[in-house]
Amino acid sequence: MNNPLYDTMFALHAGRDTPFLLLPEGGTITHAAFVARAAQLAHALVGFGVQTGDRVAVQVEKCPDMLALYAACAQMGAIFLPLNTAYTGAELRYFVEDSGAALLVGDPGRDDLPDITRIETLSARGGTLADAADAAPKVFETVARDADDLAAFLYTSGTTGRSKGAMLSQRNLISNAQTLTDLWQFTADDTLLHALPIFHTHGLFVATNVMLIAGGPMVFMPRLDVDQLIDWMPRATALMGVPTFYTRLLDDARLDRERVANMRLFISGSAPLLAETHRAFEARTGHRILERYGMTETNMNTSNPYDGDRRAGTVGLPLPDVELRVCDAAGTELSRGETGTVEVRGPNVFQGYWNMPEKTAEELRQNGFFITGDLGAQDDEGYVTIVGRGKDLIISGGYNIYPKEIETVLDAQPGVLESAVIGVPDADLGEVPLAVLVASGDLDMAALRGAVEGALARFKQPRRYVVVDALPRNTMGKVQKVALRAEYGA
Ligand code: ATP
Ligand code: MG
Repeated sequence: MNNPLYDTMFALHAGRDTPFLLLPEGGTITHAAFVARAAQLAHALVGFGVQTGDRVAVQVEKCPDMLALYAACAQMGAIFLPLNTAYTGAELRYFVEDSGAALLVGDPGRDDLPDITRIETLSARGGTLADAADAAPKVFETVARDADDLAAFLYTSGTTGRSKGAMLSQRNLISNAQTLTDLWQFTADDTLLHALPIFHTHGLFVATNVMLIAGGPMVFMPRLDVDQLIDWMPRATALMGVPTFYTRLLDDARLDRERVANMRLFISGSAPLLAETHRAFEARTGHRILERYGMTETNMNTSNPYDGDRRAGTVGLPLPDVELRVCDAAGTELSRGETGTVEVRGPNVFQGYWNMPEKTAEELRQNGFFITGDLGAQDDEGYVTIVGRGKDLIISGGYNIYPKEIETVLDAQPGVLESAVIGVPDADLGEVPLAVLVASGDLDMAALRGAVEGALARFKQPRRYVVVDALPRNTMGKVQKVALRAEYGA
């Protein structure tokens, strides 16, 4: 049977006695065992009445069975819909009802699951779906699918508003995974440190899919645990992480050149990597972090080169099969070097937002370009710099202010650990910038103001500074400016 996603990612691993998931708590799951488990789960899903084309919502702590459900859905032609484990019962209800999921697979440990008719539980400790799978045959006849069929719904992180359900086809997932495997030169000899959640595009459709194609193992860590990362590093070759991984690693004295001697690649994405982190990591380990840029709706758009020049502060070049352009609001392409909205087109671009035809029409142009909502520029050599999100742009007295420009100045000051700049309403100018700072003990406000006055034009200088213990971040480490605006906007 022809099922492009299952055939490219999973079928080839049947019978391979090679390690796929290395579990830090002990034990290894081979490729063959993983594929067999997926077949059992496919039987269990069918047994629970799930049909081809149905959505299967999964909100389970990261565990091998959760990943096997992805393969099971691919094999039986259901749509995999992983959900953030941080969602409360009420949020979960919204996602399950919005998506019209046929089944919600939840953790049995939770007592706040919404009262929805079709809930089954699954966990490492066993549950009804897992029990049904245990008793099922280890082979399942793959259901035929087409590359244009939907393979997954992934809700966006909700950084700028309510999460949207991005519909991804088999082709969306396959094309990107193949491109990235080639570009980053992953092979079966690689061992990936996998400490990302698998309900998000980064851990699932970038990290996992690449390793499925490459055929090597992943150290499958339930969550970010710096000790564990450091312990496993001598036995691994690559790490994919969000910027927080790198700042936390730098806090650990054991990170040094010897520790990373076996590592060939450190990748960062999902949020901007501070130039300071970049520099500090290179000084300590000799490795230049490779930064790349993507999103739920498109998986990956750009990457710094593997062999060529990895430029700090940029997200690199468009992927070989991705077209990228920078446009004004009307969709007219701007010249190289000019800042505008980043748009992308290619086999990675999603099929639209579930249940949101207007939103889809607003963001997905007829000609196939997706309006990312990110502001950026591309230089003469093609390198892309992301300066922030359109929704975070501050317009003050008719001037455009990019918060990142101010944040870069603030972050470089002694005593500033990190910063976030937002626009707050102003009767005269419309909006003015306000800076929220996380400070270490030795922050000298007068010196900071002086440095800002020397570095930035007057209209860009923050009108107010607020010092906080920590910036509000979501599970992917993204700063939640919506929350900051709600708090300080009045
Ligand atoms: P929502 O769309 O619901 O507001 P979100 O955009 O944060 O949430 P994701 O799809 O998880 O949801 O995140 C994609 C966004 O993350 C991109 O649009 C971009 O703003 C940001 N991003 C990803 N990688 C990078 C990077 N390397 N540098 C800067 N920003 C990045
Ligand atoms: Mg988004």
